Amino acid sequence: MRILLVEDDPAISGEVAEALKRRGSAVDVFSDGQTALGAPSSCHYDCILLDLGLPGIDGMQLLSRWRRSKITSPVIIITARDGLDDRIGGLDSGADDYIVKPFELSELEARIRAVMRRSGQGGEIVGLTNGELTLDPLSHEVHFKDEQGKEQSAALTAREYSLLEALLRRPGAVLSRQALEDHIYAYGEEVESNAVEFIIYNLRRKVGAKAIRNVRGVGWKVAKEA
Ligand code: CA
Repeated sequence: MRILLVEDDPAISGEVAEALKRRGSAVDVFSDGQTALGAPSSCHYDCILLDLGLPGIDGMQLLSRWRRSKITSPVIIITARDGLDDRIGGLDSGADDYIVKPFELSELEARIRAVMRRSGQGGEIVGLTNGELTLDPLSHEVHFKDEQGKEQSAALTAREYSLLEALLRRPGAVLSRQALEDHIYAYGEEVESNAVEFIIYNLRRKVGAKAIRNVRGVGWKVAKEA
């Protein structure tokens, strides 16, 4: 998934971005409100993590401006302010949840999964499946049946997980190389020319070639749920 992180404390943004990347997300980090303002209009984010105290435009203003311009991505406020007014203000401005600093990364990850489930973005994240392949977001394993119909599972790298997640969010839809790259690489991250093919080649070796279909000249898809 692709995540927007707006946070002006480099120690926090570095740690959070690093942890989310290890879990297979592409993370774009902005450290001031002014440059973050246009980000969700130029790229779709599955989730936005938003600090309140920011230089330029503060987090609360950013959020209400995004909501006014119909940015619907779920937003989790991350803030050191634990006053009740701030929490209510944030939720009233259109936030989906908030987390108070300092927090555990595992709690942040759980909240991201929860807001995405609630917002219905791309369906259920826990146990995302098309009936053939099922992703486990906690273990980063994929479960599937082999040719003999026997239950199997395989561990996935962060990129493999992220690519398969993109396909499983929209079973039956053909995703282009560009769409898959946008999903697994953050803005400005170097993408090797055949990276997507390489990841798919490795995925097919794990789950079987038939599970991920190539549509020549267009892209790749997984079967639509029966
Ligand atoms: Ca701050």
